[in-house]
Amino acid sequence: ALTAGIVGLPNVGKSTLFNAITQAGAESANYPFCTIDPNVGIVEVPDHRLNKLTELVQPKKTVPTAFEFTDIAGIVKGASKGEGLGNKFLAHIREVDAICQVVRCFADENITHVSGSVDPIDDIEVINLELILADLESVDKRISRVEKLAKQKDKEALVEHPVLVKIKEALESEKAARTVELTEEEAKVVKGLHLLTTKPMLYVANVGEDDVADPSGNEYVQKVREYAAADNAEVIVICAKIEEEIAELEGEEKEMFLEELGIEESGLDQLIRAAYSLLGLATYFTAGVQEVRAWTFRRGMKAPQCAGIIHSDFERGFIRAETVSYDDLMAAGSMGAAREAGKVRLEGKEYEVKDGDVIHFRFNV
Ligand code: GDP
Repeated sequence: ALTAGIVGLPNVGKSTLFNAITQAGAESANYPFCTIDPNVGIVEVPDHRLNKLTELVQPKKTVPTAFEFTDIAGIVKGASKGEGLGNKFLAHIREVDAICQVVRCFADENITHVSGSVDPIDDIEVINLELILADLESVDKRISRVEKLAKQKDKEALVEHPVLVKIKEALESEKAARTVELTEEEAKVVKGLHLLTTKPMLYVANVGEDDVADPSGNEYVQKVREYAAADNAEVIVICAKIEEEIAELEGEEKEMFLEELGIEESGLDQLIRAAYSLLGLATYFTAGVQEVRAWTFRRGMKAPQCAGIIHSDFERGFIRAETVSYDDLMAAGSMGAAREAGKVRLEGKEYEVKDGDVIHFRFNV
């Protein structure tokens, strides 16, 4: 399963956020494929469409789709030189598919800041520099190898070399590899390097309790937004401390609390959805009287692969995917009406599943 790693300097609110994640945690019995690890938090992906489908179909059971966050502790200055937990930290980052970097944007004199004062850009740069240096080492190694091959007129090496140089230049000017514009062919070359700074990055601006409803007055957040734009990354604003409280609530209680705070959706829910889409993930549904359920797939996956997410037999024996879009189903009012209106399509092996498709797979066993 794809996972997003949570990183950040000490005392920025990582543990508080991760607590909120595990508090809100999904019922793991529903997700036997998820990793069982104290550093992994499984969350349900909030999706109002699932509630609407439940109202429509009235199933015995409703199961949201889930998603994993990994807590990656231990970043320090000098990580790329193997100091402290450095090497281990970088190895953990290498394993995740996206990075959520928690940035301290709250001023609280009682909570020490590692570098003495709150400065989100400085914090971000400390972490990003370690990732950049680690990548620079990977790229340098690769360059010296490719140069040897290029001398022997190796065709691939001749293609790869200029791409590596381009990436190296960006890294040397302290820019993430993800900020370099690449052609499809170049991107393939870079993918093989498994760099840290090509991973999608989401900055989680952790603000104080007073700034949750309207963070526009928080200068730190503005700075993070500016930085992120240049870094080809996204920003989510949360208050980790409040998220911890919200995570203990459910249903109406939760909604009332959010209303009091003046926010529509909890920061955690926003974070989950942002990380989910950052990873290129999307949701399709199955909707039977026994169970209405949301399933995660990667954008671009075809119908048989999506069937395989439910069960490998579904993929092997795939015949057709009876498909109706969520919007068409809702407009029709029932599966029967959607069928009569000609909105239920029989899709074959080459069909690229879309976000929001409601699917009934037909397969041979
Ligand atoms: P970590 O070292 O990054 O895991 O940071 P922690 O989650 O342990 O948080 C460090 C301290 O900051 C703790 O005392 C938290 O209660 C506090 N803290 C975290 N988030 C917030 C916040 O949004 N507002 C305020 N005022 N304090 C926070």
